[in-house]
Amino acid sequence: MLRLLGIGVRGLEPRASWPPSRHSTKLSYTPLARGIILHPMVISTSGSAAKHAQSRSGPTNSERPSRSATAALLAWFRASRRPLPWRTAWRDPYRVLVSEVMLQQTQVAAAVPYYLRWVERFPTLEALAAADEAEALALWSGLGYYGRARRLHAAARAVVASGSPGLPADLAGLRALPGIGPYTAGAVMALAHNQRAPAIDGNVIRVLSRVDALEEGGKAAGLRSVEAAWLRLAPRRAMRHYAEALMELGATVCSPTGPDCGRCPLKVVCLAGIRGNATAYPVPSKRPAVTAVAHACALVRGDDAVLLVRQTEAGLWQGMLEMPRAEVQAAEAPQDAAVRALLAVTGLRGDLIRAWPTVRHSVTRYRVTLHPFEFSLPDRWRASDALEAQWVRVSSLASAPLPAAQRRALVSAFGSAARGANAG
Ligand code: SF4
Repeated sequence: MLRLLGIGVRGLEPRASWPPSRHSTKLSYTPLARGIILHPMVISTSGSAAKHAQSRSGPTNSERPSRSATAALLAWFRASRRPLPWRTAWRDPYRVLVSEVMLQQTQVAAAVPYYLRWVERFPTLEALAAADEAEALALWSGLGYYGRARRLHAAARAVVASGSPGLPADLAGLRALPGIGPYTAGAVMALAHNQRAPAIDGNVIRVLSRVDALEEGGKAAGLRSVEAAWLRLAPRRAMRHYAEALMELGATVCSPTGPDCGRCPLKVVCLAGIRGNATAYPVPSKRPAVTAVAHACALVRGDDAVLLVRQTEAGLWQGMLEMPRAEVQAAEAPQDAAVRALLAVTGLRGDLIRAWPTVRHSVTRYRVTLHPFEFSLPDRWRASDALEAQWVRVSSLASAPLPAAQRRALVSAFGSAARGANAG
């Protein structure tokens, strides 16, 4: 998940009203909408936070009517929430966890069919723990960021191995499981257990960065400020609905490029909305440089099957099946890299039959170019001679855990049979 930034809100003291000026000592009000009165006030800050707060025009910060804004947020959510499948399972920590993990780096619309397939096949933590990792990866195939599926599976196994009847019901216990970070743990605690635990995803970061006009990007201090804003606005009860409402607001109203401030329940407390510069927040953090990599792979047909190997190396595609693949070295021809990949798996160079269309795919910060080449092997060669190699029937490719670029190469060679139930 993307994380952010900001001005600390604790220890701020009201000094004077705004407008008309930072130096005014008279209290004033600004009507922002029919029936709503805002009492904006200049706040005393210190150090860099004060500098940041004064760096943009408009009110620097305010003591804002948080309680009524939170009530408006909850009322808006009751009226506007989308009927998403995981919202029927709010009290099931396992299903909350599955949905939260899937929604990391994935849009809601893309995650829904995966979530439905996942909970149908693995309706409980125990069912997931009892399955092979390969099956979990196969169900995840096409959703990307496969480490999420591996860690979810590992977490299920860790819970079952501990003898616990279900996921831990406390932050520390959740955090001790593979792949569960502070905000996933917070989401489980807030959504499943109705606890006062910040549940912060990219949408919430955007909303709260705008509400408090937070200036730093992607730093721990910024995350702490988002967390502080979450806690400040939190109601005494209804934590579950509050947590979900903030996420929903970010997903449907406070969008990255076109926030609809006019119909936003937080408009009376949102500094960026009041100033009219919402899209300046969250302040973008420095993105890691994109790295271009070229790979080549060897496509070998068997009897209505294709030769695949299980990726055992730690990395992007660990645990998945793929055609023998090698990174193309500097000054190396892609075809030679494919020969090298085939040689490493089978001990044979194979006979080149043809080149298949190049596939381009972006994954995390890598822009991958995959060059597929088809080879034939002598009849005497047996897949059982090669570690981790196996013939996978073409009819099984749809449900096999294949990286997206490899699947696209196989679709070129085998048509829709290789497309996969999960392939986008
Ligand atoms: S007022 Fe605008 S910028 Fe502020 S939270 Fe609402 S939609 Fe986002």
